[in-house]
Amino acid sequence: MSERQRAIVIGGSMSGLLAARVLADHFREVVLFDRDVFPATPEHRRGVPQGQHAHALLSSGRQVLDGLFPGFRDELVGQGAINAEYLKVRWFDNGVYHTRFEGLQGLLVSRPRLETHTRNRLMALPNLRLQTTHDVDSPIFNGDRVCGVRVHGAREAGDREVAADLVVDATGRGSQSPIWLERAGFTRPREEAVRVELGYTTRIYRRQADHVNGDLAIICPSAPPQRRGGVALAMEGDLWMVTLFGMLGDHPPTDSDGFIAFAKTLPAPDIHSIVSSAEAVSDPVPFKFPQSTRRRYDQLNRFPDAYLVFGDAFCSFNPIYGQGMSSAALQAAELKKCLQSGDASLAKRFFKAASTVVDAPWTMAVGGDLRYDEVEGQRSGMVKFVNWYIGKLHIAAAGDPKVALAFHRVANLLDPPPRLMQPAIALRILQGNLKRSSAPN
Ligand SMILES: Cc1cc2nc3c(=O)[nH]c(=O)nc-3n(C[C@H](O)[C@H](O)[C@H](O)COP(=O)(O)OP(=O)(O)OC[C@H]3O[C@@H](n4cnc5c(N)ncnc54)[C@H](O)[C@@H]3O)c2cc1C
Repeated sequence: MSERQRAIVIGGSMSGLLAARVLADHFREVVLFDRDVFPATPEHRRGVPQGQHAHALLSSGRQVLDGLFPGFRDELVGQGAINAEYLKVRWFDNGVYHTRFEGLQGLLVSRPRLETHTRNRLMALPNLRLQTTHDVDSPIFNGDRVCGVRVHGAREAGDREVAADLVVDATGRGSQSPIWLERAGFTRPREEAVRVELGYTTRIYRRQADHVNGDLAIICPSAPPQRRGGVALAMEGDLWMVTLFGMLGDHPPTDSDGFIAFAKTLPAPDIHSIVSSAEAVSDPVPFKFPQSTRRRYDQLNRFPDAYLVFGDAFCSFNPIYGQGMSSAALQAAELKKCLQSGDASLAKRFFKAASTVVDAPWTMAVGGDLRYDEVEGQRSGMVKFVNWYIGKLHIAAAGDPKVALAFHRVANLLDPPPRLMQPAIALRILQGNLKRSSAPN
């Protein structure tokens, strides 16, 4: 990169916004292209169909957002988002409720409000330009470096080429980068895919203060042999967002009676108690997620300079683990460090760092999915041991707040997974299991 004049980001969803925020500190101008129309107020938009479903922003992601946009969380709380201590979260996993603990907080907010607020904060920067209804056809390469994009604008904007010193692909799971690269004479990245055939159905309900004794979130992940799970998250406007899901084709229905009946089959009764008594304020909406996909850009030998692939385009996880946006935020933190260290081999350095970021959530998500015999994939001895160990951890977490906190810090991407294997935690897990097996039935 000779001079950092213009950076282009393709895709203006959470990953694109986060990448653009970091680039704005290093480039004279950042242009963000998105093919969608962005509503002025927090509403669902077509380009992010998953935005109608429960989205949790993990603590790690929230910390990065607060760092990039000072005051971010407080501003959202001012708009009705809810600070939720884990003391107010019901987590039912592997047949037990985790005991309540202090020291961790979530932020409950609808996905459209989160994105709209992030975009508004970003657009307050003087060197940001957002071009909506602009579909990027492909990047333009000159030898071994990217030099711009070919873009198709709606109406009079027409087709044009826009030059850039750096281009980021943040177009989500459907990213065309593998094809674009192949057409330009580069090698496609190897793709790791784990099919889960997951189906979501979501409905919004009016929330009363006394529902589920005033708790703010109910989370019931699926655990074998049960393929079903669900979450109910309090959100702005005194509402519940209730998402039911099923793995391996066992999808929740989209009619009212079927939705309630599905909730009744979950192993914990709380979500059913909400959907069978609260007033529904939307129709049930479905979403299908066939597979988790990781594209190994980090393993390519030859790659165009200053072309980056980011967020879901780089790695998209089974969403029941709620890690996508936080993983993008942590990638943004790595991009910042890479840019601060100069331009040489930027793409290579970024992919290495981003790959380290996604290692933990990918291993957790895929490891969890491989508990199901029907999910295809390699079950190393380590994967089998970790799944056995985490099953024991859940049992101990039912009675030991320290074990529960350690688990949720890892699930929130605040601590690395090996933290759960440390002797102090392993001992508590053993004690918790011994106590339980000696307890009278
Ligand atoms: C059902 C579901 C539930 C989820 N729940 C959670 C959760 O609880 N917590 C969490 O952190 N994550 C969750 N995720 C993941 C999360 O939605 C994504 O990680 C997050 O949106 C970031 O994705 P992204 O910005 O990389 O891509 P996307 O959100 O997919 O956005 C891609 C953007 O690129 C634009 N675009 C695409 N192609 C072009 C083009 N050629 N030219 C111009 N623009 C283009 C689109 O219009 C869109 O705006 C969930 C995902 C799903 C599917």
